[in-house]
This record gives sequence, C-alpha cells and structure tokens, in this order.
Amino acid sequence: MRNYLVTVLLLAGLAAAQATAPAVSPQARALHNSALVVDTHADTPQRFLDEGFDMGTVTPVTEGHLDLEKARAGNLGAEFFAIWVEPSWKGQYAQHAMQLIDSVYEQAAKHPDQMVMAFSSRDILAARSGKRPRLATLMGIEGGHAIENDLGLLRDFYRLGVRYMTLTWSNTNEWADSSGDLNDPKVAHHKGLTPFGKEVVQEMNRLGMMVDVSHVSDRTFYQTLTISRAPVIASHSSARALNNHPRNMTDDMLRAVARNDGVVMVNFFSAFLDQKFLDAYKAQKPERDAAITAFEEKYKREHNVTFVPYAAEAALEKEWAAKIPRPPFSSLIDHIDHIAKVAGVDHVGLGSDFDGVTSLPEGLDSAADLPKITDALLKRGYTPEQVRKILGGNLMRVFRQVERVSHEMQTVKLKP
Ligand SMILES: [Zn+2]
Repeated sequence: MRNYLVTVLLLAGLAAAQATAPAVSPQARALHNSALVVDTHADTPQRFLDEGFDMGTVTPVTEGHLDLEKARAGNLGAEFFAIWVEPSWKGQYAQHAMQLIDSVYEQAAKHPDQMVMAFSSRDILAARSGKRPRLATLMGIEGGHAIENDLGLLRDFYRLGVRYMTLTWSNTNEWADSSGDLNDPKVAHHKGLTPFGKEVVQEMNRLGMMVDVSHVSDRTFYQTLTISRAPVIASHSSARALNNHPRNMTDDMLRAVARNDGVVMVNFFSAFLDQKFLDAYKAQKPERDAAITAFEEKYKREHNVTFVPYAAEAALEKEWAAKIPRPPFSSLIDHIDHIAKVAGVDHVGLGSDFDGVTSLPEGLDSAADLPKITDALLKRGYTPEQVRKILGGNLMRVFRQVERVSHEMQTVKLKP
C-alpha cells in the first residue's frame, strides 16, 4: 500500500513537472545537439570572483543557471561572459574589469578539457569541432564606464580578448546615455552619444569588437546605428511591443537592426518577457528596495566593508522575485517569434542573462533547458534551418561581418 502510494505520488509529481516544463521531442533533441548554440550574456563571472565559484561544480538551479554540466546538457557551444563593473565603484572600473577577465581565464585554465578561450568566430568553430567539443569561452564588457574614457584601455580590453562592449549598463556614462536613468534629473545626459562616444564606436569597428546596444537609450541606439560601419548586436534585449520596458526594443528599433544586418539576442528575464510579471515586480519595488537597503546596511556593518558583493545581494533579490509567479515558458518563445516576424528570422538569437537575473520563465531553470527552446520553435513551425540561425547562426554571421569590417579598416593599401 505504501509503495502504491509512493508510486502514485511520484507519478503525480512527474505529471506536474511535465505540465510546467515542456518535453523535448527526439527530433528537437537531435537538431539541438547538432546545432551551434551561442549565448551572448551570462553574469557568471560575478560568481567566479565573489563566491570563488568553479564551473566544474554542479549548482542547484536556485543558486546558479550555468556550470559545465548544465552547459553540456543544454549543448551550449559558446558563452559570452559579462564583464560588469558596479557603477558606484568609480576609480576602480578598469581594475575590477581586469579581475573579472582574469576570473574567466582562470576557469578556462582549470578546465582545459571542457572550456577554451575563444577570440574569433573561427575559434568558436574550432572549439566545437573534434571528438570532444569544448565550451567556447568569450567575454563582453557590460557598460562602457569600464574603459574610463580612454581609447587605450578599450584597445587593451580588446587585446585581452573582449569581443563586445555594451555601450552603457543601466547607468549613463560620460559619453553615452543609458535607458536606465533617463528620468533621473541628477544625471547629466548627452542626448545620445558625445563626440567621444562616437569615436568609441568607430574604434570598436576598427578593432573588431562588436558594438552592443542593449541597455542604451533609444537615442543612443539610433545614433550608434548611423555611425557603426559594422552590424551591431543587442546582447540581451527583448521586444517592447510585448512588454513595455525601456530595456526592450521597439518594433521600429527591431527593423533598424534588420537594416543594419545586426542581431537581437532575447533576454530570458521574466520582467522583460511578461507584462504581468513586470507590473507585479514594479509594484513590489518600494518594499523590495527598503529590504535590500536594510540588508546592505547590516552587511556593511557586520563585515566592515563599504561595498556589498553582488552575490550576497542576489540571494535576497531572488527571494523577492520568487514571490511573483513565473511567466509561462511560451513568453520567451513569443519574444523570439515577435522579433523574427518584425525584423526577420536572420536577426534574432539568445542572450539569456543567466546568473544576472532573479526570475526565469517556467520550465527554464538553467542552461540545461536550452533544448526546450528548439522544441518550442519547431512546434511553432520554424524549419530546422531557421532554428539553427536563432540558436547561433545569426550571431556567427554578425561576428564574421564585424571581423571583416575590422580587417578592411586595418588594411593599409600600399601603392604598387
Ligand atoms: Zn544587463
């Protein structure tokens, strides 16, 4: 009897799990596992540095979205690790960015059989070929304040392997406006890019560093598109028509990216995907902020520090986000589908924001669940070829084009 009950309970649990998490058909699994899957945004380096987290550790999904086992289960082929520096750490931007870059290299060095640093589109292909494909490990700077208004530092970051830079994070810097503080009267804005900001974009083109327009204000976005000689990326942004958040892109912006031949990599954060979630998230903001401030004060007192590490705060933020029901898995697919319809299937990809967000849609707990995206896209009528483009092909096309533009700009035409 007891065994019978256990079985019934187990089956009921299984059914409940299946109801929330879409199953993956063998056809989808085969397609997914044969595709090059590229994700352009994970904040895991904060964990490397603050928690001493190792990619070889298997993390519960409540703690982390990405580790080597999850990457393997999700056939993640290339990850762009975010080099993000807290804007209040003025005077330490470049140094902290260097520490994060070092933490990524150290992970690759610790797991040479499973990870390899990659600096070009060819490196990504090389990492994925052979009998034992490895995770192609790349880096993108999130927030142009990291270069401390210095093109020399920008070039140094390129030399260290950084292959994209998000012009701003949520903070407006001294040369580009962000979408995150446009209504803050205390912030000095520039109506988009300053002349130096334009130089930054041109230098990125010359170096072969992808220009990332996630987080920037709409004006910065349009100005960047008029001056960039190479296609741009939005490394982790979703569609504003489906969820009215300034971090998301309007249909007009999506069409502009299509004309630029760039790519918009969809962010998986529940608050960027689902309007209901966003409304609830905004409603709880005063209470949440008060709780976080109280936590920060306590932490600083108890640990005798001036800054609270990102990881310490993330746990509390996750608790608050967990009070709001997760949006359905289909909300993520809706955004991919919308961008594919408005901009075209050549201009959409995946920019998870793993380990940087506090809530993901139902059934999407970590990188191990990436095959469910393939399954859902096939069910919506996308062809295998289109699915391959979304999973990584589109980003690879843009990366190659950025490399070509750089090559052309650097080639000195010698007279015969
Ligand atoms: Zn971000």
